[in-house]
Amino acid sequence: MRTRSGGRATWLVRIEAPEGEVESISAELWSLGTLGVEESALAGAPGRVELRAYFAADAARGELQRLDAPARGVRVHEPVPVAERDWEREWRAGLAPRRIGRLWVRPSFCASAGTPELVIDPQQAFGSGEHASTRLALELLQDELRPGDRVLDLGTGSGILALGALVAGAGSALGIDSDPVAIANAAENRARNGRRLPLLVGTLDALSERARFDLVVANLLLHELLPCLAGLARRTRRALIASGFLAAERAALDRAGAALGLRCVREASETQSGDRWCARVLVHAAARSASSSASSAASAE
Ligand code: SAH
Repeated sequence: MRTRSGGRATWLVRIEAPEGEVESISAELWSLGTLGVEESALAGAPGRVELRAYFAADAARGELQRLDAPARGVRVHEPVPVAERDWEREWRAGLAPRRIGRLWVRPSFCASAGTPELVIDPQQAFGSGEHASTRLALELLQDELRPGDRVLDLGTGSGILALGALVAGAGSALGIDSDPVAIANAAENRARNGRRLPLLVGTLDALSERARFDLVVANLLLHELLPCLAGLARRTRRALIASGFLAAERAALDRAGAALGLRCVREASETQSGDRWCARVLVHAAARSASSSASSAASAE
């Protein structure tokens, strides 16, 4: 679930929809000011999900009803009031500290489950640790990281990877995101972890052409990653961790990587909701045994 922090939820709107509609409906719900959206599979209806969106009392019923689209299989139920305490318990119950690699990632409202830990509150920005692409990136990042490394996180979202790198021993990290809301969320998570993390709104262009990083991590969808790949490769000294692509998209990444002289030394993958998410460690082909994991490479090629 993703939620904005700090709101007082008093109305619940249930929406049934095909999985393919979830992204656009969620975007609408956020623009209508939802305080949080939960998603769960609809029992007995493969490919359909139920979204539970919480709103403050003044949420506009009319605007929500406009989302109702029977032709597309989208059904919006009447908002119902929920007691605040019940709602809080409900959404918090779905979240718990989660071990990713050596790090414990937890929302600030959950008790600590262990150290080292990273406190990340689920908000509008992507990156609570609930998505496979985040987990894969964070795991590979910890494996590749050497103490004192300089790390770039392109598409930082909640800041989870950049902050994770710092907790895991990076000397410095920089987070960039084209979405100002993500950068605001990342700044809040930075404060929660008491870390020093410069954050930039923008794309790779926000960086000096000469900037170089030991490790670069980018959890972007393939169509977002490919245009940035050359710029990321140029700025990578030791390893580039690319996450956020599907198994079916490997070939496209292979082609783009090969054209830039990048070699995959390791791949990790995880299936979530029927999708096989992959992440790779890419190194400059010229750099022999540049990555410590090269010898134990589980290359997909
Ligand atoms: N790093 C987080 C968030 C990944 S979601 C995690 O691993 O969970 C991807 C993020 O990349 C989004 O916040 C999106 O706004 C941002 N993004 C997409 N394309 C981008 C680009 N070309 N430059 C910078 N940020 C980008």
